[in-house]
This record gives sequence, C-alpha cells and structure tokens, in this order.
Amino acid sequence: MDHFIYRGGQLWAEDVPVAEIAEQVGTPFYLYSTATLVRHFRLFDEALAWGPHLVCYAMKAASNQAILKTLAEEGAGMDVVSGGEYARARAAGVPGERIVFSGVGKTEGEIRAALDGGIRQFNVESEPEMRAISRIATALGVEAPIALRVNPDVDAKTHAKIATGKSENKFGIPIAKARAAYAEAASLPGLKVVGIDVHIGSQLTQLEPFEQAYRKVAELTEVLRADGHEITRLDLGGGLGIPYTRSNEAPPLPTDYGAMVQRTVGHLGCEIEIEPGRLIVGNAGILVSRAIYVKEGEGRNFLILDAAMNDLLRPAMYEAHHDIVPLIEAAPGVEMAPFDVVGPVCESGDTFAKGRDLPPVKAGDLVAFRSAGAYGAVMASEYNSRPLVPEVLVRADQFSVIRARPTFDEMINRDTIPAWL
Ligand SMILES: *Cc1c(COP(=O)(O)O)cnc(C)c1O
Repeated sequence: MDHFIYRGGQLWAEDVPVAEIAEQVGTPFYLYSTATLVRHFRLFDEALAWGPHLVCYAMKAASNQAILKTLAEEGAGMDVVSGGEYARARAAGVPGERIVFSGVGKTEGEIRAALDGGIRQFNVESEPEMRAISRIATALGVEAPIALRVNPDVDAKTHAKIATGKSENKFGIPIAKARAAYAEAASLPGLKVVGIDVHIGSQLTQLEPFEQAYRKVAELTEVLRADGHEITRLDLGGGLGIPYTRSNEAPPLPTDYGAMVQRTVGHLGCEIEIEPGRLIVGNAGILVSRAIYVKEGEGRNFLILDAAMNDLLRPAMYEAHHDIVPLIEAAPGVEMAPFDVVGPVCESGDTFAKGRDLPPVKAGDLVAFRSAGAYGAVMASEYNSRPLVPEVLVRADQFSVIRARPTFDEMINRDTIPAWL
C-alpha cells in the first residue's frame, strides 16, 4: 500500500497534487511519501515485536539525508555498505550503535572510520576481512563487534543479478566453513563475536527460501554455542520483495515474514536484526516525467519521455517492470494502445517498456513510474550530461526539495582543467 492515489481525477502524493510539484520543480524528479516510508518501517518493527530486535534500513536502496532522518526518528538502525553510507547515516543523526556495516570489500580506511565513530557490528564477509578488522581494532586499542556473514547456499528464486545466497555468489563465508571461521575469530585479538549474519538476495517473492536459510542459521547457532561462542544476535538480512505490478501475485507481508522468523529462530533467545531496503522505500517513491514527443514508428509507437536510463536504471539493468501511469487519471473504459516507452539517451537500452498498453498520451503530458523509490535515485548518473535527477519529499500537505537539480554550471564546474591546458 502507498500514498500515491487518484483523487478527483488526478494523482496525489498524500495531500499534494503531484502535478503541482512538477510545475514548481520541473521534470524529471523523484517524489517520496513520508507516510508510506513510516508505515513500512512500522510494519517490520511490529512484525518483530515478539522479541528484542532492531530494523536496520538498508540505505543503499535510497540514501537521501531526509529519508534517513525520517526513518531514524522512527527508531530505525541502518545497514551500510560503504564509508560514504556510514558518513551519511551519522550525518542524519544515526548513532554508531545502531549501524551495521555489510559488504565484501571494506577497506582499511572504512573499517577505521567505523571503529572511530562507533559501530554496532561489522558483518564480516571473509576470513581476510576478519583478520584486517582484528589488526585495525588492536592497533586502535578497541574491540570490534562482529557477526560472520554465512552463505547458506539456498536458491533465493530471484533475478540472477540480485541473488546473493548461493555458493557461486561472492557473498559471505560458506556455511560449511563457518565453524572453523568462528574458531579463528575467537582466537584473534580485538574482535568480539556477537552473532551470525545472512542475506540471500533481493526482491524475494516467497518466504520459503528465507525459511530454508534461517533454519540453517538456527542449526548453526546451536553448533556454535556448543563450541563455546556467545551468539546473542542474528542478523537476517533484507530482501523481502514488493509488488511491481498491480496485477501480479503479492509477495508475503512483513507480518507473515515476522511470524516465520519467530517460528524458525525465535526459540534461540537472540536479538533479531533485519535489513530491509526495497520494501521500506520501493513503493514510497515515484519518478515523475513529462512526455516530450509521441513518435509514430513503423509498426510501433514511441512515447519519448524526459526521464531516461540515467535517472532510473532498473529496466535497463534488471529488465525490471515499473507501472507507468498518467498524472491525469484515464477515463474509465478508455481505449488503451501499446507504446514503447523510451528516454532521450543515445542507447537502445534506454527503453523503459516495450509494447506497454497506455491510455491516450500526447506531448506535454505528465506520467509517473510507480514503485521507483528503491534503487532509483541512488543509481542515477549524469550520463549524456543530464543533470542528476532531483528528489522531493512529501509530508501530508507539505513538500520539500530534498536534493536540488544541479545547474549546467554546477555540473561543468565539478571538472577541473589542468594547468597545461
Ligand atoms: C541490498 C542489501 C539489503 C537490502 O535488500 P532489499 O532487497 O532492498 O531489502 C540488505 N542487506 C544487505 C547485506 C544487502 O546487500
């Protein structure tokens, strides 16, 4: 459920007509709903209310300061995957003890910065990383809290580019090697083992792969405890999918997910951490764009928008589907016609949809890409020297530009000309 709905024939974001924002901000732009963000966070928080837990928002999905602050004020922790994300989380007011640090390639500088600034735990993805953290923590005279990310070798049944829990993926330590890795962790100085971490992929539409993974984690918890390790936390990752189309089967709800977590690992008495990204922000954001031309091709019609693959990469990168809707609601029973929906970038990959049935559209009309909040703005670039797409946040009847569109001068002046030119 989200807060982008038609009222009186036009699309609203909470209590603001989207077209009004488009007039003021210009297109294209991302638009987020505070109410949807908060609602999704609370759904997870309540789904785990049966025990001690922390919902760590996976901020790589959308990392604007205003989004982070909105969630932090709700009590969210953050899952970060780079030094830049760590700095963003801290700048948004998230204390170190609510930040978990994931990622396969943490550098020495990133590890040091997190230890200096405070960290809840490192989710360690390899033995060499574990040794590096031990070395750096020892040099700093501190103890680094760690969980080892185990790779449970389960099939997440999702798009290959976002599956992370099979043994062929680069993520985590194979679960079969976990005992040995934990034994080494216990023997190293500067480390404090606090738990186990697992994350098997993104946009999962069934509970079953999670359940398989979590049962393996539960078993491993008992084994490691018998080996003498103190396992007090289980970080179960993110990955719960969202409905990208109105028509397809809805993925499980956070409530069902929370009940499954209780069923599989609830008896262990661990604090539960989860790292949802997409489900919190995906349907809390839309991308608003204006039609530049409608071009009649041979055997097909093209709808050419002012948004492009540099603004929303998901269709080109993951063959992702986004519903595209007009800001002025189509009259009931109006005849639909197929369009190839494309952007102005000089690549055939700059195609958002092929043969998409849309109500009548003409140049100048405004449209919205639904479910664009996650992995949208964060993946945007300035390819073709198109200024970085702005972001706007709505709360009830207010809206605010939370990242302004750079001017051409700002864009150009980021380059420097060497003295010899
Ligand atoms: C990407 C990622 C997440 C979030 O995944 P979603 O599908 O957006 O919920 C959580 N944890 C880790 C380690 C990730 O890499």
